[in-house]
Amino acid sequence: MPTPLESAPRLSRILGGPRILIKRDDLTGLAFGGNKVRILEFLLGDAIEKGADVIITVGRFQSNHARLTAAAARRAGLKPVLVLGGPREPELTGNFLLDKLLGSDIRIILTNEPPPFAQAAVLESVAEEFRTSGMTPYIIPSGGAGPFAGVAYYNCMLELYDQLVQVGQPANYIFLCSGSGGTQAGLALGAKALQTGMEVVGISDKHPTEFLATRISKIANETANLLGIKIELLPNEVRVRDEYVGEGLGVPTESDLKAIRLAAESEGLFLDPVHTGKALAGLIDHIQKGMIGPDETVVFLHTGGTPALFAYSEAFA
Ligand SMILES: *Cc1c(COP(=O)(O)O)cnc(C)c1O
Repeated sequence: MPTPLESAPRLSRILGGPRILIKRDDLTGLAFGGNKVRILEFLLGDAIEKGADVIITVGRFQSNHARLTAAAARRAGLKPVLVLGGPREPELTGNFLLDKLLGSDIRIILTNEPPPFAQAAVLESVAEEFRTSGMTPYIIPSGGAGPFAGVAYYNCMLELYDQLVQVGQPANYIFLCSGSGGTQAGLALGAKALQTGMEVVGISDKHPTEFLATRISKIANETANLLGIKIELLPNEVRVRDEYVGEGLGVPTESDLKAIRLAAESEGLFLDPVHTGKALAGLIDHIQKGMIGPDETVVFLHTGGTPALFAYSEAFA
């Protein structure tokens, strides 16, 4: 079932136009939803095909990806193993609480390093532990990034395009939060393949623009290969903005918290401080700087992440 495409007329009016549509991928259905659900559908398909019975992945304590990987693994009858990291012992709230309720086998790494703190070697040693006990582990990389994520969001672009045709409203832009890059890679590849003329703008949650654009181009090209379509996406065709990161991943900014309140007060819509709040802050800034015209149409992709909101109560106090 397609996720809803809703209009946000009050938010749009407060910002002085453009028309804003919200693609509700926070409603993807599983365990509080989010973009990772679409991606995991393909990753777990691959895992099952390879005979896996254990799913191992990595993330921060408040990782949406980790929560959804654990939930998806449970739905598929597989054992979830989460390598989670952060600078201090995690609080039992938000995603980390949900990870526990899912009965995940959690391995904690206390580190000041940004993710993926668990380098390939750490995940490999966890996998080896299960292999020696006769099980078949499957490792999912940080954020699920790779061509399966690209395929998932290429499909989402097809779905969105259909919905835009149905409402008779072509869009000029898609704004989204971009982290490990798979989501934007699939959307941008789809937008180019369909010749929609839509610009896909990724608001980075941590990486510098050039690094992320290169990575997205690489994932998009791997995706095109996997799909067997002859389209190439060059790094300079990928639009990424890194000026809304602030002090780093998961550290809220003023404009981020303001955007979260604005979405709630205008549309009854919840965002989170790590991803979608910063993405909306980026969109608002583009509108206020006149980079998007009042007669244009923007799709804001709600990528989920709302359980993390509860881990940030102090930021709103
Ligand atoms: C993972 C995530 C993103 C970023 O998606 P990528 O495919 O890693 O770029 C954005 N928003 C939320 C809520 C996420 O959990």
